[in-house]
Formats: sequence, structure tokens, C-alpha cells
Amino acid sequence: MKIALFGGTFDPIHSGHLSAAMAAQSAFALDEISFVPTGVPPHKRARTVTAFADRYAMVALACNDVPHLAPSRLEDPEHHGGEPNYSIDTIRRFHQQMADDDHLYFLIGVDAFLDIPTWHDPVALLDSCDFIVVSRPGFEIGKINSILPAVLRSEQPLQENRIDLRRTSVHLLTTVEADISSSNIRQRSAHGESLTGLVPQPVADYIKKRNIYAQDTYAEKN
Ligand code: ATP
Ligand code: MG
Repeated sequence: MKIALFGGTFDPIHSGHLSAAMAAQSAFALDEISFVPTGVPPHKRARTVTAFADRYAMVALACNDVPHLAPSRLEDPEHHGGEPNYSIDTIRRFHQQMADDDHLYFLIGVDAFLDIPTWHDPVALLDSCDFIVVSRPGFEIGKINSILPAVLRSEQPLQENRIDLRRTSVHLLTTVEADISSSNIRQRSAHGESLTGLVPQPVADYIKKRNIYAQDTYAEKN
């Protein structure tokens, strides 16, 4: 099986995440894409992140009845005693439950990929599995070469949509053009604006019912 892990805060999941997942699914014939909401996101401690249970519930609603997409509790904080969890640990944990002929990809947007040098153990992370990097408006996919740790680069000639590292490959998927972010959705929601078309309708209904983004903090800054 070809399986991708798609990590994120998903606060909330939105149609940009779904476009990225669908594009990767069809380009790489993925059997499964696991959406992995982060438990305690190491990069986002500056603001209050919505409870894991709510973010997971919204991911589950968005994946419901969509072929190949599934929610994952791999980073459920209840399993990690509230400790921060790093992507490299999640990938290692996932490897342990994979069959020998499974192939794992890590799906990620270009904005997040450009941040990888600041993540925990980037070299081990990039050594651990293949990556699929999707385009995102406002971020230059051409920059990803420059952030790759020199030690990982291989002597292979550069491919158009693939960078071969010493053990893994980074695949570039440049067709995604979804100008949408969770920050913007939180802001719209706090102002009482419609979320139609930005998140699946069951997710919009859930946000409304649970009044998730109504706090003043969301209306101001995020
Ligand atoms: P926030 O505004 O809170 O940062 P976000 O919209 O960036 O939220 P995240 O949960 O931070 O969503 O992102 C999870 C993953 O999805 C990251 O790899 C990110 O690059 C990717 N992603 C998010 N939105 C898009 C988009 N519109 N197009 C392509 N990739 C995206
Ligand atoms: Mg983000």
C-alpha cells in the first residue's frame, strides 16, 4: 500500500488541506492519506490551540465518506502525557505498524516544508521517508532546494519534479492553488462571516454549534 501522513494543526481543517490531499492522492495513486492532527504543536504554543478532540472531530467529519482519506489519532495528547510530539517520532511510530511492502510518504505544504530546518532533528526527519511537497499561494516552491541540509544531498542529477536525497526523495506537486488558511477561517468565523466553500459543510456546522472560534482573541490577531 502507498500511504501518506498529512500532519497539521487542522484548526480547523479546510478545503486547501483537502485539495492538497486529493491532488497527492491522484498524482501518486495513494491508497490512504492519514490526517494527523498535532497534539501539542511545538511551533504554535504562542496562541491557544483548539482542543485535540474538536480538531480531530472536524478532521473526521471532513474525511467521512471521502475515499482514501482517514483521520488519525497518532498524535493524540492522551497517548503522550502532554509532551510535545515531533514528526520524526510520529513517522517512526507509523513505520512500526506498516507492512514490509507498504510505502510511506509525508505530505506537507511548501510553507511548512520551508520551516523544516527549525523542526526537531531535520536530518533524521528527511532521511525517514519520502516527502510530497504541495504548492501554496504566496510561498515559493523553488526555494526548497536551498533549505535542504547539505549532508543529505545526493549526486543524482536534478529531476524536474523530484529532488533525490541520500536515502529519500522529495516530490514536488505544483498544481495546488488554494488560497485559504485556518487563520483566515478563524478570523472570519469570529466575525460571524460565512464559511461556505472554505470548509466542508459538516465542519462549518460543527464550528457553529460548538461556537469554537467566537473568542475575542481570534477576532483580533489570528
Ligand atoms: P494556520 O493558518 O493556523 O497556520 P494552515 O491553514 O496553515 O493553518 P496547518 O494546519 O498549519 O493549516 O497546515 C497543515 C499542513 O497543510 C501544512 O503542511 C500546510 O503547509 C498545509 N496547508 C495548509 N493550507 C494549505 C493550502 N491552502 N494549500 C496547500 N497546503 C496547505
Ligand atoms: Mg500553517
